[in-house]
Amino acid sequence: MKNYLSFAIVLFSLLAFPQFAYSSSDQTVLITGANRGIGLEYAKQFLAKGYKVIGTARKPATATELKKSGAEVLQLDVTDEKSVADLKAALKGRAIDILINNAGYFDRQDVTLDKVDFNTFARTLDINTLGPLRVTQALIGNLEKGQRKTVISMSSGLGSIEKSTGRWYAYRTSKTGLNQINKILSTEYKDQGFIFTVVHPGWVQTDMGGSNATYTPTQSVQGLIKVIEGLTTKDSGQFYDLNGKSIPW
Ligand code: NDP
Repeated sequence: MKNYLSFAIVLFSLLAFPQFAYSSSDQTVLITGANRGIGLEYAKQFLAKGYKVIGTARKPATATELKKSGAEVLQLDVTDEKSVADLKAALKGRAIDILINNAGYFDRQDVTLDKVDFNTFARTLDINTLGPLRVTQALIGNLEKGQRKTVISMSSGLGSIEKSTGRWYAYRTSKTGLNQINKILSTEYKDQGFIFTVVHPGWVQTDMGGSNATYTPTQSVQGLIKVIEGLTTKDSGQFYDLNGKSIPW
Protein backbone atom coordinates (compact mmCIF):
# COMPACT_ATOMS: atom_id res chain seq x y z
CA MET A 1 0.00 0.00 0.00
CA LYS A 2 2.82 2.36 1.00
CA ASN A 3 4.58 1.55 -2.31
CA TYR A 4 1.43 2.31 -4.31
CA LEU A 5 1.09 5.63 -2.48
CA SER A 6 4.72 6.60 -3.21
CA PHE A 7 4.26 5.62 -6.86
CA ALA A 8 1.07 7.70 -7.09
CA ILE A 9 2.80 10.72 -5.52
CA VAL A 10 5.76 10.47 -7.95
CA LEU A 11 3.43 10.04 -10.93
CA PHE A 12 1.29 13.01 -9.86
CA SER A 13 4.41 15.19 -9.37
CA LEU A 14 5.77 14.32 -12.82
CA LEU A 15 2.45 15.11 -14.48
CA ALA A 16 1.87 18.31 -12.52
CA PHE A 17 5.48 19.56 -12.72
CA PRO A 18 6.92 18.16 -15.98
CA GLN A 19 10.12 20.18 -15.56
CA PHE A 20 11.16 17.70 -12.84
CA ALA A 21 10.69 14.72 -15.15
CA TYR A 22 13.86 15.54 -17.05
CA SER A 23 17.44 16.20 -16.14
CA SER A 24 18.73 19.20 -18.09
CA SER A 25 22.25 17.75 -18.36
CA ASP A 26 21.21 15.12 -20.91
CA GLN A 27 19.04 17.52 -22.90
CA THR A 28 19.99 19.38 -26.06
CA VAL A 29 18.48 22.70 -27.12
CA LEU A 30 19.02 24.06 -30.62
CA ILE A 31 18.53 27.81 -31.03
CA THR A 32 18.51 29.55 -34.42
CA GLY A 33 19.90 33.09 -34.72
CA ALA A 34 21.83 32.61 -31.48
CA ASN A 35 24.71 35.01 -32.22
CA ARG A 36 22.95 38.08 -30.76
CA GLY A 37 19.81 39.38 -29.04
CA ILE A 38 17.27 37.01 -27.56
CA GLY A 39 18.88 33.96 -29.21
CA LEU A 40 22.25 34.61 -27.55
CA GLU A 41 20.53 35.12 -24.20
CA TYR A 42 18.65 31.82 -24.63
CA ALA A 43 21.99 30.10 -25.29
CA LYS A 44 23.58 31.56 -22.15
CA GLN A 45 20.65 30.80 -19.85
CA PHE A 46 20.10 27.24 -21.12
CA LEU A 47 23.86 26.58 -20.70
CA ALA A 48 23.74 27.96 -17.15
CA LYS A 49 20.92 25.53 -16.40
CA GLY A 50 23.07 22.61 -17.56
CA TYR A 51 21.58 21.97 -21.02
CA LYS A 52 23.77 21.20 -24.02
CA VAL A 53 23.26 24.05 -26.47
CA ILE A 54 23.66 24.16 -30.23
CA GLY A 55 23.50 27.76 -31.39
CA THR A 56 23.27 28.59 -35.06
CA ALA A 57 24.58 31.69 -36.76
CA ARG A 58 24.59 32.86 -40.36
CA LYS A 59 28.29 33.71 -39.94
CA PRO A 60 29.85 31.50 -37.26
CA ALA A 61 33.24 33.19 -37.80
CA THR A 62 31.90 36.41 -36.27
CA ALA A 63 29.73 34.79 -33.58
CA THR A 64 32.36 35.56 -30.95
CA GLU A 65 30.13 35.84 -27.88
CA LEU A 66 28.20 32.70 -28.76
CA LYS A 67 31.43 30.72 -29.15
CA LYS A 68 32.73 32.10 -25.84
CA SER A 69 29.50 30.99 -24.09
CA GLY A 70 30.43 27.33 -24.57
CA ALA A 71 27.68 26.53 -27.08
CA GLU A 72 28.38 24.35 -30.09
CA VAL A 73 28.12 26.72 -33.06
CA LEU A 74 26.77 25.61 -36.44
CA GLN A 75 26.11 27.61 -39.60
CA LEU A 76 22.50 28.28 -40.62
CA ASP A 77 20.72 30.72 -42.86
CA VAL A 78 17.03 29.79 -42.51
CA THR A 79 16.26 31.05 -46.04
CA ASP A 80 18.94 28.93 -47.70
CA GLU A 81 17.84 25.36 -48.44
CA LYS A 82 21.43 24.14 -48.83
CA SER A 83 22.36 25.61 -45.46
CA VAL A 84 19.34 23.90 -43.86
CA ALA A 85 20.24 20.60 -45.55
CA ASP A 86 23.86 20.91 -44.33
CA LEU A 87 22.62 21.48 -40.76
CA LYS A 88 20.41 18.39 -41.04
CA ALA A 89 23.38 16.34 -42.27
CA ALA A 90 25.67 17.65 -39.51
CA LEU A 91 23.11 16.61 -36.87
CA LYS A 92 22.26 13.20 -38.36
CA GLY A 93 21.34 10.69 -35.64
CA ARG A 94 21.51 13.20 -32.77
CA ALA A 95 18.60 13.84 -30.44
CA ILE A 96 17.31 17.38 -30.03
CA ASP A 97 14.99 17.92 -27.09
CA ILE A 98 13.98 21.53 -27.67
CA LEU A 99 14.17 23.48 -30.94
CA ILE A 100 13.86 27.24 -30.64
CA ASN A 101 12.99 28.91 -33.93
CA ASN A 102 14.30 32.30 -32.92
CA ALA A 103 15.90 33.83 -36.05
CA GLY A 104 13.80 36.73 -37.24
CA TYR A 105 13.71 39.96 -39.21
CA PHE A 106 11.78 43.20 -38.77
CA ASP A 107 11.53 45.65 -41.65
CA ARG A 108 11.25 49.04 -40.00
CA GLN A 109 10.21 50.94 -43.13
CA ASP A 110 7.07 48.91 -43.75
CA VAL A 111 4.70 51.12 -41.73
CA THR A 112 2.06 52.36 -44.15
CA LEU A 113 0.64 51.25 -47.51
CA ASP A 114 2.86 53.60 -49.53
CA LYS A 115 5.95 52.08 -47.87
CA VAL A 116 5.16 48.45 -48.66
CA ASP A 117 7.99 47.03 -50.72
CA PHE A 118 7.13 43.62 -52.09
CA ASN A 119 10.66 42.29 -52.20
CA THR A 120 11.11 43.15 -48.54
CA PHE A 121 7.71 41.65 -47.73
CA ALA A 122 8.71 38.40 -49.45
CA ARG A 123 12.04 38.36 -47.59
CA THR A 124 10.25 38.89 -44.25
CA LEU A 125 7.94 35.95 -44.96
CA ASP A 126 10.90 33.85 -46.07
CA ILE A 127 12.77 34.42 -42.80
CA ASN A 128 9.95 34.64 -40.23
CA THR A 129 7.33 32.26 -41.64
CA LEU A 130 9.03 29.78 -43.97
CA GLY A 131 12.32 29.74 -42.04
CA PRO A 132 10.92 28.04 -38.91
CA LEU A 133 8.99 25.58 -41.11
CA ARG A 134 12.13 24.67 -43.10
CA VAL A 135 14.15 24.12 -39.93
CA THR A 136 11.37 22.12 -38.25
CA GLN A 137 10.97 19.94 -41.35
CA ALA A 138 14.73 19.28 -41.46
CA LEU A 139 15.06 18.47 -37.76
CA ILE A 140 11.82 16.58 -37.06
CA GLY A 141 13.73 13.27 -36.98
CA ASN A 142 16.14 14.66 -34.36
CA LEU A 143 13.19 15.92 -32.32
CA GLU A 144 11.54 12.50 -32.52
CA LYS A 145 14.62 11.08 -30.79
CA GLY A 146 14.42 13.74 -28.04
CA GLN A 147 12.73 13.43 -24.66
CA ARG A 148 10.75 16.65 -24.82
CA LYS A 149 9.78 16.84 -28.51
CA THR A 150 9.29 20.57 -28.08
CA VAL A 151 9.38 23.21 -30.80
CA ILE A 152 9.15 26.83 -29.71
CA SER A 153 8.74 29.47 -32.38
CA MET A 154 9.34 33.10 -31.54
CA SER A 155 6.20 34.91 -32.59
CA SER A 156 5.13 38.41 -31.59
CA GLY A 157 2.11 40.16 -30.15
CA LEU A 158 2.18 42.05 -33.47
CA GLY A 159 1.06 38.79 -35.13
CA SER A 160 -2.25 38.79 -33.25
CA ILE A 161 -5.10 39.70 -35.63
CA GLU A 162 -7.46 40.39 -32.75
CA LYS A 163 -5.04 42.88 -31.17
CA SER A 164 -3.86 44.46 -34.41
CA THR A 165 -3.76 48.25 -34.44
CA GLY A 166 -2.46 48.45 -38.00
CA ARG A 167 1.02 49.31 -39.39
CA TRP A 168 3.93 46.92 -40.04
CA TYR A 169 2.33 45.00 -42.93
CA ALA A 170 5.05 42.42 -43.51
CA TYR A 171 6.19 41.71 -39.95
CA ARG A 172 2.67 41.33 -38.54
CA THR A 173 1.63 39.08 -41.44
CA SER A 174 4.78 36.96 -41.14
CA LYS A 175 4.11 36.23 -37.47
CA THR A 176 0.38 35.58 -38.07
CA GLY A 177 1.44 33.02 -40.68
CA LEU A 178 3.94 31.51 -38.25
CA ASN A 179 1.14 31.12 -35.70
CA GLN A 180 -0.98 29.24 -38.24
CA ILE A 181 1.94 26.95 -39.14
CA ASN A 182 2.43 26.22 -35.46
CA LYS A 183 -1.25 25.29 -35.12
CA ILE A 184 -1.09 22.99 -38.15
CA LEU A 185 2.02 21.24 -36.78
CA SER A 186 0.40 20.82 -33.37
CA THR A 187 -2.55 19.11 -35.06
CA GLU A 188 -0.43 16.91 -37.33
CA TYR A 189 1.78 15.70 -34.47
CA LYS A 190 -0.93 15.62 -31.78
CA ASP A 191 -0.72 11.87 -31.15
CA GLN A 192 3.07 11.67 -31.11
CA GLY A 193 3.80 13.53 -27.90
CA PHE A 194 5.05 16.71 -29.58
CA ILE A 195 4.64 20.23 -28.20
CA PHE A 196 4.51 23.06 -30.75
CA THR A 197 4.07 26.43 -29.05
CA VAL A 198 4.46 30.03 -30.21
CA VAL A 199 5.65 32.62 -27.72
CA HIS A 200 5.86 36.40 -27.53
CA PRO A 201 8.99 37.60 -25.67
CA GLY A 202 7.59 41.04 -24.77
CA TRP A 203 9.19 44.17 -26.16
CA VAL A 204 12.88 43.44 -25.67
CA GLN A 205 16.05 45.58 -25.75
CA THR A 206 17.86 44.07 -28.72
CA ASP A 207 18.93 45.41 -32.12
CA MET A 208 15.37 44.65 -33.23
CA GLY A 209 13.52 45.99 -30.18
CA GLY A 210 15.72 49.08 -29.64
CA SER A 211 16.97 50.55 -26.39
CA ASN A 212 13.58 51.93 -25.23
CA ALA A 213 12.02 48.46 -25.03
CA THR A 214 10.39 47.22 -21.82
CA TYR A 215 12.49 44.16 -21.01
CA THR A 216 16.18 43.33 -21.00
CA PRO A 217 17.01 40.09 -22.83
CA THR A 218 17.82 38.56 -19.43
CA GLN A 219 14.35 39.33 -18.01
CA SER A 220 12.53 38.18 -21.14
CA VAL A 221 14.41 34.91 -21.49
CA GLN A 222 14.09 34.12 -17.76
CA GLY A 223 10.32 34.31 -18.19
CA LEU A 224 10.32 32.37 -21.45
CA ILE A 225 12.46 29.49 -20.14
CA LYS A 226 10.17 29.15 -17.13
CA VAL A 227 7.22 28.90 -19.52
CA ILE A 228 9.05 26.44 -21.82
CA GLU A 229 10.14 24.13 -18.99
CA GLY A 230 6.58 23.97 -17.71
CA LEU A 231 4.93 23.07 -21.03
CA THR A 232 2.98 19.85 -21.46
CA THR A 233 1.25 18.41 -24.54
CA LYS A 234 -1.87 20.39 -23.48
CA ASP A 235 0.04 23.55 -24.41
CA SER A 236 0.70 22.41 -27.96
CA GLY A 237 -0.87 24.79 -30.50
CA GLN A 238 -1.05 27.65 -27.98
CA PHE A 239 0.28 31.22 -28.05
CA TYR A 240 1.81 32.53 -24.80
CA ASP A 241 3.61 35.61 -23.57
CA LEU A 242 6.74 35.55 -21.39
CA ASN A 243 4.59 35.10 -18.28
CA GLY A 244 2.70 32.13 -19.70
CA LYS A 245 -0.45 34.18 -20.36
CA SER A 246 -2.44 33.30 -23.50
CA ILE A 247 -2.42 35.86 -26.31
CA PRO A 248 -5.57 36.12 -28.47
CA TRP A 249 -5.12 34.99 -32.08
P1 NDP B 1 17.69 40.59 -33.42
O1 NDP B 1 17.43 41.42 -34.63
O2 NDP B 1 18.41 41.20 -32.29
O3 NDP B 1 18.41 39.21 -33.84
C1 NDP B 1 17.90 38.50 -34.93
C2 NDP B 1 18.65 37.20 -35.08
O4 NDP B 1 18.06 36.49 -36.20
C3 NDP B 1 20.14 37.40 -35.40
O5 NDP B 1 20.89 36.37 -34.82
C4 NDP B 1 20.15 37.29 -36.93
O6 NDP B 1 21.41 36.88 -37.47
C5 NDP B 1 19.14 36.17 -37.10
N1 NDP B 1 18.68 36.09 -38.48
C6 NDP B 1 18.12 37.04 -39.26
N2 NDP B 1 17.91 36.56 -40.49
C7 NDP B 1 18.34 35.28 -40.50
C8 NDP B 1 18.38 34.27 -41.48
N3 NDP B 1 17.96 34.47 -42.75
N4 NDP B 1 18.88 33.05 -41.14
C9 NDP B 1 19.33 32.84 -39.89
N5 NDP B 1 19.35 33.76 -38.92
C10 NDP B 1 18.84 34.97 -39.24
O7 NDP B 1 16.23 40.09 -32.94
P2 NDP B 1 15.71 39.68 -31.46
O8 NDP B 1 16.73 38.94 -30.75
O9 NDP B 1 15.11 40.89 -30.87
O10 NDP B 1 14.48 38.74 -31.86
C11 NDP B 1 14.52 37.32 -31.77
C12 NDP B 1 13.13 36.79 -32.14
O11 NDP B 1 12.14 37.34 -31.26
C13 NDP B 1 12.69 37.18 -33.57
O12 NDP B 1 12.01 36.11 -34.17
C14 NDP B 1 11.76 38.35 -33.34
O13 NDP B 1 10.81 38.50 -34.39
C15 NDP B 1 11.10 37.96 -32.01
N6 NDP B 1 10.57 39.11 -31.28
C16 NDP B 1 11.40 40.11 -30.80
C17 NDP B 1 10.86 41.18 -30.11
C18 NDP B 1 11.71 42.28 -29.55
O14 NDP B 1 11.13 43.23 -28.94
N7 NDP B 1 13.04 42.24 -29.66
C19 NDP B 1 9.41 41.30 -29.89
C20 NDP B 1 8.64 40.20 -30.44
C21 NDP B 1 9.21 39.15 -31.09
P3 NDP B 1 22.47 37.96 -38.06
O15 NDP B 1 23.23 38.50 -36.87
O16 NDP B 1 23.32 37.17 -38.99
O17 NDP B 1 21.67 39.03 -38.76
